[in-house]
Amino acid sequence: MKTMRCKQLGGACEKRFRATSFDEISAMSRQHAMEMIQKKDAAHLRAMGKMQELMQDPDAMKRWMEDRRREFDTLPDD
Ligand SMILES: [Zn+2]
Repeated sequence: MKTMRCKQLGGACEKRFRATSFDEISAMSRQHAMEMIQKKDAAHLRAMGKMQELMQDPDAMKRWMEDRRREFDTLPDD
């Protein structure tokens, strides 16, 4: 299992997610972000706005995802 924080995954808080694969952990962070946005959490709404800006440029978005994936891969198992 590896651990990443919400902030490391494009979110806004220190919540930790644990998973064995990047796909799993990114799904967990997305789920959490959706919940926070439904609660109208200002920090997560801002983070979501930044992600939507990034999504305007598919190449930039792809690079961003690859960077996060690489970050996950280099983390030690815990
Ligand atoms: Zn969060």
